[in-house]
Amino acid sequence: MDSFNLDKMQTCLVNGNAHYKMELCPGNLLELNSLVGKSLWLLYQDIINCTHCQKMTKKSFSGGYCYPCSIKLAECDICILKPELCHFANGTCREPQWGQSHCMTDHYVYLANSSGLKVGITRAGQVPTRWIDQGAVAALPILKVSTRLQSGLFEKLFATEVKDKTDWRKMLKGQNEEINLYDSRDSLFELFGEQIDSLESDLGSGQITVLEDETMVKISYPILEYPQKINSLSLEKDKKVGGVLKGIKGQYLLFDTGVINIRSHTGYKIKIEY
Ligand SMILES: [Zn+2]
Repeated sequence: MDSFNLDKMQTCLVNGNAHYKMELCPGNLLELNSLVGKSLWLLYQDIINCTHCQKMTKKSFSGGYCYPCSIKLAECDICILKPELCHFANGTCREPQWGQSHCMTDHYVYLANSSGLKVGITRAGQVPTRWIDQGAVAALPILKVSTRLQSGLFEKLFATEVKDKTDWRKMLKGQNEEINLYDSRDSLFELFGEQIDSLESDLGSGQITVLEDETMVKISYPILEYPQKINSLSLEKDKKVGGVLKGIKGQYLLFDTGVINIRSHTGYKIKIEY
C-alpha cells in the first residue's frame, strides 16, 4: 500500500447515520464504516507535508500548514477561530477573494448536543458536515445570517449562557443526555430577545432570519463500543497507531488501544494496513 498524506475524514449523513471515508489518493476513497470491528493500523512515515503548498514541514502549524502558509493564508487567521473578529470590512483580509466566498456568505447559528448543549456557527454549505465533525448527536439551526462576522456576534452573545466548545473526552465517551434543542432554542430567544432585536437593527434589515420552524437533525455514529477511559494517541509519539477499530465519532477513530484525532494529523504522511 502506498503512503499518503492524511486529511480530515470525509463525511456524509445517510438516513441519520454518519458515514466516513478516508482519501488514500485523489479519487480513491476508503470506506471506513465497514472497517469497524476489524483491525486497522496507521503507520507514520515521519514526514509532514503542508496541506496547502505540499512542502515538507518539521512541525504542523494551524492544523496542517507550514509556517509561511500559516502566516499568509486567510484560513489560518485568528478570525477563523474567533469569527467575531472578522476584519473583512476593514479591507485587511489576508485573501479578500477567499474571504468573499468563505466568510461574506450565508451562515447558520445552531444549537447542538455534542458533549452537552453547545452553540456553534457554520457556513450554510457545511451542514451537516460540521455537526458530524464535532460528534454532535443532534443539531438545530436557530438563526440564518448573511456573513461569518454576524454569526460570530450571535455566537458570542449566546455563549454567555451556553457552552461554545465541545469537551471531546466527554463526547467520545458517548453518554449524552437527551436534550430538547427546541426548548433550549426557545429559552435562548426569550432570554436574549432584546439583544437579538438590537443586533438585527444594527446589522440592517434582511440580514438576519430567526429560524423557528427548523427540524432537529439526529446523528448516529458507527460505534461498537465506547471507550471507558480515553487514551489519546498521536502519530508523533506512537508512530504506529491502531488496533481493532471500535468506532468513529467526530473526527476521531476509536481503537481498542486508544483514540486518535485524524483532523489534527492533517498533512502527516502514513501508510495504512487493514
Ligand atoms: Zn505551505
